[in-house]
Amino acid sequence: MNLQKNQIIELDIISMTADGSGVGKTDDGIAVFVPQSAVGDKLSVKILKTKKTYAFGKIESIITPSKDRENPDCLYFNKCGGCAYRHITYDAQKKIKEQKVKDAITRIGGIDENKIKPLICSDKHKRYRNKAQFPVGTDKDGNITLGFYAFHSHRIIDCYDCMLQPEIFKTVMDITRDFMTETNQQPYMETTGKGKLRHLYIRYGEKTDELMVCYVVNGNGLKHEDWLVERLKRGLPNLKSVVININRDKTNVILGDRNRVIFGQGFIYDKLCGFTFKISPLSFYQVNRETAEILYNKAKEYANLKGDEVLFDLYCGTGTIGLSMAKDCKQLIGVEIIADAIEDAKENARINNINNAEFICGSASEAALMLEKENIKPDVVIVDPPRKGLEKNLIEAITRIKPKRVVYVSCDPATLARDLKIFSEQGYHTQEITPVDMFPGTSHVECVVLMSKNNI
Ligand code: SAH
Repeated sequence: MNLQKNQIIELDIISMTADGSGVGKTDDGIAVFVPQSAVGDKLSVKILKTKKTYAFGKIESIITPSKDRENPDCLYFNKCGGCAYRHITYDAQKKIKEQKVKDAITRIGGIDENKIKPLICSDKHKRYRNKAQFPVGTDKDGNITLGFYAFHSHRIIDCYDCMLQPEIFKTVMDITRDFMTETNQQPYMETTGKGKLRHLYIRYGEKTDELMVCYVVNGNGLKHEDWLVERLKRGLPNLKSVVININRDKTNVILGDRNRVIFGQGFIYDKLCGFTFKISPLSFYQVNRETAEILYNKAKEYANLKGDEVLFDLYCGTGTIGLSMAKDCKQLIGVEIIADAIEDAKENARINNINNAEFICGSASEAALMLEKENIKPDVVIVDPPRKGLEKNLIEAITRIKPKRVVYVSCDPATLARDLKIFSEQGYHTQEITPVDMFPGTSHVECVVLMSKNNI
């Protein structure tokens, strides 16, 4: 029998997808994906969309709950697309993430699962994020909505608190919502390209208690900015910066490339691994500070520096990983594509009294080729690319310049596994993989990998 849209079926959830949906199979072998379900659930499911060999559904009712279930701690969980797992125990989440890494590494990478260590996590499973980007819009009655997109959609779920964000972000959200309502300003509408405020973007230095509020605007600014700044200053004693980010493009990309500071210094500091880091609005900074330290320490252990090495930190952001190890090597060269992040990295070397670091602004692939031409040979290479992973020509360049070790930090096990396979074809074999749970509650998992030439 073919599944029909709106049909109600009974379904046992037997596994999870990489993005955190439960999967069940109909008697005909059709896979049905159901968000917010759990392995072991017996469900009544409404079919929302059908394809030849699979379908998407949503929970109508739970007939028998999985033993992994617990009550979600968030009011918005069943609407918001931010978290995949607020309805199961942390232990169950950990198992799903370990399985996700194992599946990718063995199936895509062809690597022995014994290379994978148990998932490491910090004790903090809630309110661990130091950054939020909330889209702003209006509901059908014209009221301001500010929150998160629904799962796989651009519909804004109006939200007053988020279990991943620090409490202080609630105050910023409230002030922004009230300001927009009282000054009667229209948020940006994706469909028409009209209206001004696109996103509220907040960053918090957890160790320094410094707060930066950034408004992403379709235009040069907002009306009554002075008033906005006064209200933020009054409500937020630790406010260090308010920035207007200009983004006039019809795009899904949140941030534009120009900033206008309307209060304070235009950046914040935070501390990581005992070092101080300057972070500008456009620069990447790890969103879970506490677990980033665990990740960096593992990367440092894998880099195994003795003091006389040349270290490349490719995709270096504000220089955090390399600078946290610079005192253990002879020379550090960092490469990053965002110019503001490179300026931050240079400043970060200076404020931490690190004199053996150099930072290059450019693409990692091009910089690697340039360094190869100049005959600068690294002993250890660290890469920490975005989700899409490494370009093949970068992997080839790295293996040609023959570092002793390559340390790969990855936020996507699938692209990581693909790249590890290419490295291995070029003689660099995976020695050990440590998954780290940087993002509890979500389906994401970070990994750090040690590779070396010919199994040494
Ligand atoms: N290692 C840093 C940053 C990791 S995030 C940290 O731990 O904080 C990945 C970084 O890669 C981002 O800063 C992004 O701007 C940068 N990036 C993206 N594409 C790049 C490319 N092709 N070449 C160099 N850097 C790139």
